[in-house]
Amino acid sequence: MTNPKQKSHSTPHRPSQGGIDFRNRVKRDKQKPAASAPKAAAPVRTGNPMGRPCIVLKAERDKSLLRRHPWVFSGAVECIDGKPASGDTVAIRDADGKFLAWAAYNAASQITARVWSWIEADVVDKAFFRNRIANALAARRTLGLESNGNGMRLIHGESDGLPGLIVDQYGNVLVMQLGSAGPEHWRETIAEILQELCSPVCIYERSDSDGRELEGLPARNGIVRGTLPEKVEVAENGIRFGVDVAAGQKTGFYLDQRDNRALTGTLTDGRDVLNCFCYTGGFSLYALRGGAKSVLSIDSSQEALQLAQTNADLNGLDASKAEWQCADVFEALRKLRDQNRKFDLIVLDPPKFAPTAAFAEKASRAYKDINLLGFKLLRPGGLLFTYSCSGGISDDLFQKIIAGAALDAGVDAQIVKKLHAAPDHPVLLSFPEGAYLKGLVLRVAG
Ligand code: SAH
Repeated sequence: MTNPKQKSHSTPHRPSQGGIDFRNRVKRDKQKPAASAPKAAAPVRTGNPMGRPCIVLKAERDKSLLRRHPWVFSGAVECIDGKPASGDTVAIRDADGKFLAWAAYNAASQITARVWSWIEADVVDKAFFRNRIANALAARRTLGLESNGNGMRLIHGESDGLPGLIVDQYGNVLVMQLGSAGPEHWRETIAEILQELCSPVCIYERSDSDGRELEGLPARNGIVRGTLPEKVEVAENGIRFGVDVAAGQKTGFYLDQRDNRALTGTLTDGRDVLNCFCYTGGFSLYALRGGAKSVLSIDSSQEALQLAQTNADLNGLDASKAEWQCADVFEALRKLRDQNRKFDLIVLDPPKFAPTAAFAEKASRAYKDINLLGFKLLRPGGLLFTYSCSGGISDDLFQKIIAGAALDAGVDAQIVKKLHAAPDHPVLLSFPEGAYLKGLVLRVAG
């Protein structure tokens, strides 16, 4: 081919970027979330003089679009000219009628439209999508990402100019996730182009993220093109992982942590490692290959743990050094504390505790809880790799939470590195919400 996580019963699963619920943005913009669809909120005019359905913004509500932020919130809409259906391309105009963008309309979402293009002469058609998709593939080629293995995020939604569209590659299988009405409308076209450009043996659709409901779209999970091989595998920095594209979390695997897993692997030699929220064994396998003395891995999903053990076998890793525990991490950490267990390196990579800023307070308590316990379980000089993939928790807030956890645990700790998602998950400068994954590597005083 060209170049191109099962939900926890107790906590929401991590987002795909396209499915990230960024509606905290509404709050930041000091808008109230619309109680109803914008179609009802905004008067609809007919007899559109421009000949195409268009959304006219309220006066002074064009600012975020002028900064090229690709979302139009319902509260910014003055009226809708014409009768667009969800997914249709509409022109976005300011209060004076000046063209701002072409965007995909969604009647059912608080995000009334997501921008396809800022150029009036552009036509949003198959050639347009072909160009955008080819650009995303070329960007990854240029970055030399294929040398790390055969798993990659090929299309990262808004950041690749394709709002709502996620495409992940696992060897010769592509998994696509349509998170909003725009890509839903162009579903067939997108699949056709992916087939043309990437020649996969299968394009599988995992449009069953939580975000779809908020967009008024039904869940969909199934084959779009080709045949799904019995076993899908991805090789990452020389480690093989079986991927359950049909029932696994997200599109089946957490590609975003690739580089961070590799970094962890370089620091595990001779160490006792604890990997919390281990899913299919990502960090654990790197730790085992890196020469860890022992690796205890915890997850609440039995299916994920089974696949993790299969993955460890697949790589010929020493099973005697690995312990797999099906448990709630919050409880398991307390038990380990009570047993006075100690580790040299701990990974905390929980699911999205705060999908939006509205959940930030509750999520902050959860992050503080696990990190406080993590600090207590570390030996002097030990390392904590701690992550948040919550759209509703900023980098600053995350660091403050961790500082509070260290203080309460009674340890002095230094940040030795700040981590983010791998470069196949780029962040468009005008779309800072794309930077959902943040990580800190902390060393506690020796
Ligand atoms: N680090 C992993 C990805 C972690 S995703 C990797 O590199 O692939 C988050 C994981 O947390 C999921 O596997 C989910 O099953 C698990 N999970 C969610 N809530 C949990 C809880 N309360 N206790 C234990 N595991 C939990």
